[in-house]
Amino acid sequence: MFEGLKKAFQKVANSFKEKVEYKEIKEDDIEEILEDLKLDMIENDVAYDIADSIINDVKKQLIGFKIKRGEDIEDVVKDSIKKSIIKSLGYENINLIESIKRKCNKNESYVIVFLGINGVGKTTTIAKFANMLKENGISVVIAAADTFRAGAQEQIDIHAKKIDIPIIKGQYGADPASVAYNAILFAKSRGLCTVLVDTAGRMHSDIDLMGELQKIVKVTKPDMKILIVDALTGNDAVEQAKMFNENIGVDGIIITKIDADVKGGVAISVSSVTNKPILFIGFGQNYNDIKRFDPNEYVNNLFD
Ligand code: GDP
Repeated sequence: MFEGLKKAFQKVANSFKEKVEYKEIKEDDIEEILEDLKLDMIENDVAYDIADSIINDVKKQLIGFKIKRGEDIEDVVKDSIKKSIIKSLGYENINLIESIKRKCNKNESYVIVFLGINGVGKTTTIAKFANMLKENGISVVIAAADTFRAGAQEQIDIHAKKIDIPIIKGQYGADPASVAYNAILFAKSRGLCTVLVDTAGRMHSDIDLMGELQKIVKVTKPDMKILIVDALTGNDAVEQAKMFNENIGVDGIIITKIDADVKGGVAISVSSVTNKPILFIGFGQNYNDIKRFDPNEYVNNLFD
């Protein structure tokens, strides 16, 4: 996992060690090394502007820094990069499980609309999410509001059956907003805590899709709109994040397929371009392969 960025950060730490051990760091000493690092970061899915601002921040921290005897320049450089990345992740501590429980205690249902284009792992992620809530003792209904893609209803129905969670479906071509609304009514009538709305995900540049999603949001008034992106799609994930955030508004992000991500920069990019937190990450195909995103753990993984 994340071999690309890991290598880049180790490379820059080594270069610093060769050039500037035990003396004050001067801009001339490190300009080229950091320029190289910027290119390596861009190659590993960190968006250009964000790589640029991380490098500038690192420069600010390091220029004029005097390394003392006994202090390891590698650690100094790595710590400074870590700090800048954490800053760029703009971490906002949202504890979704607690928020859901709080609303449920007031006998209200918490509504989450999931956004994302086909293939990113949306169906699987909704099933993982539903299963996680169930394991936390939180009741759930799924709204299969992708009535556009042939097979979408069946696909999510299979998951719902496996994890034993109720699902509200619609006819092929039916109004997705009405399917979502029916699920909310179902949750109210049964006193269920959470409604998870699956939505269509044909091409992120599709204007009809954006209109359809806006209508779902208007009708369901969700507590959260969560965008799902695939770590393996690099810059496309960043473009999707911008697009959905501008057109629908995103409250948080889930990144899937982290287990297969050899680069590592998508998390930094999508949260920076949207200024929204990454809530969870998916790291496999099993229902339990989902966990809360922890920025410190993520950054430490980039330096292992
Ligand atoms: P959708 O079209 O967005 O609904 O995508 P699916 O949920 O059908 O997922 C597409 C493929 O990605 C499936 O083979 C999933 O098993 C796989 N997948 C989903 N999430 C993950 C993940 O976190 N890691 C890995 N390795 N595969 C995943």
